[in-house]
Amino acid sequence: MSGVPDYAVFLSPSDCDFMHKNGLNFRDVFDARGMAKRQYSKEAKLCNSCVVFVGRACNRGHFLKLRTGHCPICRPSSFGFSKRYAEPRWVYIAHSPMGRLIKIGIAECVETRLATLVKESYAGFSDWKMKYTIWSESAGKLEADAQTALAKYRMCEEYYYKGQVMLCAREVFRTSVRKARSVLEEVSARIDSQ
Ligand SMILES: [Zn+2]
Repeated sequence: MSGVPDYAVFLSPSDCDFMHKNGLNFRDVFDARGMAKRQYSKEAKLCNSCVVFVGRACNRGHFLKLRTGHCPICRPSSFGFSKRYAEPRWVYIAHSPMGRLIKIGIAECVETRLATLVKESYAGFSDWKMKYTIWSESAGKLEADAQTALAKYRMCEEYYYKGQVMLCAREVFRTSVRKARSVLEEVSARIDSQ
């Protein structure tokens, strides 16, 4: 199996959620097991990785760390990923009729993203279809605010990533495309007027 390191099984749902939210995959995570902080901060920087796996969880059970040794989930403000909030991207609504789920996400290329959702059977379903896209200059913020507005419909779907690693899909909601779309349009208008 390629691309998924052995330590992936240790990651908590919050770690996986953090990776999904920030568009990270395992290539972006530096394996720093057995290294002192001084060493991994230097080597991870050379590899252009902001995030490391050190094999030791924080007090709340998160395994990913920043190169600085801080937990990016417990201390989101310490993380430069807020810049992603301001990135221009498509925000999309994908729908799985079989799962009766919708997913809100962001992507540079919607077609590629759809192909990935289908190929990876995101949340355990491979019948994803793109239902709506909206271009946003602050896509991360639009995505996050829309997901917050839909929080009561949020599901946590556990599924096997590439047939092996149990991940938790946290960006899926049990609601209608129409509802999600009206939320996205509302939030988008609010962000634009700020
Ligand atoms: Zn933490």
